[in-house]
Amino acid sequence: LNRALAGLGTTVFAEMSALAASTGAINLGQGFPDTDGPSAVAEAAVRAIREGRGNQYPPSIGTPELRAAVAEHQRRFYGLAYDPDTEVVITAGATEALAAALLALLEPGDEVVTLDPAYDAYAACLALARAVRVPVVLRPPAFRPDLDALRAAVTPRTRMLLLNSPHNPTGMVLTPDELRAIAELAVERDLLVVSDEVYEHLVYDGARHHPIAALPGMRDRTLTISSAGKTFSFTGWKVGWATGSADLVRAVRTTKQYLTFAGSGPFQYAVAEALRLPDAYFTGLREEMRERRDLLSDGLAAAGFDVLRPAGTYFVSAGIGPLGEDDGVAFCRSLPGRCGVVGIPHSVFHADPEAGRSVVRFAFCKKVAVLEEAVLRLKELT
Ligand code: PMP
Ligand code: GLN
Repeated sequence: LNRALAGLGTTVFAEMSALAASTGAINLGQGFPDTDGPSAVAEAAVRAIREGRGNQYPPSIGTPELRAAVAEHQRRFYGLAYDPDTEVVITAGATEALAAALLALLEPGDEVVTLDPAYDAYAACLALARAVRVPVVLRPPAFRPDLDALRAAVTPRTRMLLLNSPHNPTGMVLTPDELRAIAELAVERDLLVVSDEVYEHLVYDGARHHPIAALPGMRDRTLTISSAGKTFSFTGWKVGWATGSADLVRAVRTTKQYLTFAGSGPFQYAVAEALRLPDAYFTGLREEMRERRDLLSDGLAAAGFDVLRPAGTYFVSAGIGPLGEDDGVAFCRSLPGRCGVVGIPHSVFHADPEAGRSVVRFAFCKKVAVLEEAVLRLKELT
């Protein structure tokens, strides 16, 4: 194994889903919905296969239909204009977009400031790029970024800010003021920004997602990444994309050619249709997930956890201190046996595992009945 990946075994998501499968526990670990997305979108994929669209290699940069649909989506929701021919690239999930971006844009030794905790691929891809991860810790209970700490983390060697809002695993959503402050820092210090926005449509309570690319001075220094997995409840399709200036997108396209060359063809046709669904689809998804967020947040609070209702994503983070526990890893390993539920310890998402020691992440993108049963089981803990 490449030395950069030393110590990285099986990802926590695979480990915890395997634990759920082998114990029959309710899987509130890995973030995937237990109900598939719209049947019309699934039918579009089947139709594409039957009609022979995308059954042979699609263009490496993605089908023209999907690139146009991504550009149209960015314009429709955020007023951002991208040229589908030069400023959009389709990838195998947001994960490939992240990998290609970090490998394409970083030199060994470049410093990259990340919000910490973070989705596990960030650390692994930064290591493969031989870049240096500089974490800025989001602390419970609110998990807001400390903007002074963020500013202090930037050095002359800093090349990039790697952002994620709505944020996995905390559910934190950056506010317009925070985004403005971060954008000003990026402009002042001439930094690239890679912004992972896969939960862009999962923001609750009337708050809105704002892409940092839309702020003054940001369009040409920001690569925005998203994917169809969360927005359309087809995480297994692995269709993602990145938008940004032609220079940044060219770098990603160049690298992507040698990672996967192209993503799966028929799904690209289906996702192009999905991105054009009416507003009612997007608001309906958000409302459905908000209800589930409330159900699980209230249930966890009633079960004795320390809960801050998340503003976005699939995830609620819960402190286990009030249960008389402080080791999230041990707690999550014992949870299936104790009450038949799987969660993920925050520590695995942190540069310093001690930082997230007593916080656990639970996913609420599950059927209401499943969440109700999980809550009943979690209440047995006390
Ligand atoms: N970024 C974040 C923050 C995520 O939570 C995930 C996983 N759901 C991804 C990227 C990867 O997305 P995809 O499945 O499209 O590769
Ligand atoms: N992003 C998903 C999560 O955080 C999992 C993706 C994966 O399995 N790698 O749960």
